[in-house]
Amino acid sequence: MIYLKTAEEIELLRESALIVSKSLAQVASIIGPGVTTAQLDKIAEECIRDNGATPTFKGYQGFPATLCTSVNEQVVHGIPGKYVLKEGDVISVDCGAYKNGFHGDHAYSFQIGEVKHEVKKLLSATKESLYLGIKQATLGNRIGDIGFAVQNHVQQFGYGVVRDLTGHGLGRDLHEDPSVPNYGKRGRGAKIQNGLVIAIEPMINLGVKDVYQKDDGWTIVTYDGKPSAHFEHDIAVVDGKAVILSTFDYLEEELRKRGCPIS
Ligand code: MG
Ligand code: MG
Repeated sequence: MIYLKTAEEIELLRESALIVSKSLAQVASIIGPGVTTAQLDKIAEECIRDNGATPTFKGYQGFPATLCTSVNEQVVHGIPGKYVLKEGDVISVDCGAYKNGFHGDHAYSFQIGEVKHEVKKLLSATKESLYLGIKQATLGNRIGDIGFAVQNHVQQFGYGVVRDLTGHGLGRDLHEDPSVPNYGKRGRGAKIQNGLVIAIEPMINLGVKDVYQKDDGWTIVTYDGKPSAHFEHDIAVVDGKAVILSTFDYLEEELRKRGCPIS
């Protein structure tokens, strides 16, 4: 069942989404070679709590941390820990914050120093596909139009579109209906209506689309060990159009200040 949100609820969702945006900016202020994923987790959790929110992921079905940090062949749901980031890594940092009864949930893939050209291209194509998907979230369209736009954009480069995980409705629960796949057919799936709030999150692999879960019970990795990219925004449909509730502006401003690459 899809819970459509009122204007007031959308404002609360925006507040939670922007706490995540600020937390990702804190991550951006320290990320780089020599930093551990546990350090990223700590700074994000502090930011969330300083903003009167709680980390959505910590304790969610037993997940042990504030962030999902997924490095290189890890697609999503990586657990922060002792891993030390090194030059050439790519890392998806996914963060959730809960405040006033509503969740924010968004993610960015960071480059650590100089990454390979093919990885840079994967990142830019994945980010582009996110915005192309968002553009389709308009009144009169259907959920399949979003996935079609994402898939259609990235497949021209031969990338694998992850099918086992999807975007989702967002609200009082982290994962609500509808499921928002990154593949699909035009005109298929649930109708997009005013008040719909969803997290759109393309997970795109440099190689094959297949993934599997590691023995830790969480980390999803590519079957062929090639790198993966992941970007996520929270959007609401208002007056027939998609409004992006989250923003990459804060984190990209931090990266720019520090002379770090922007994905
Ligand atoms: Mg999500
Ligand atoms: Mg997420």
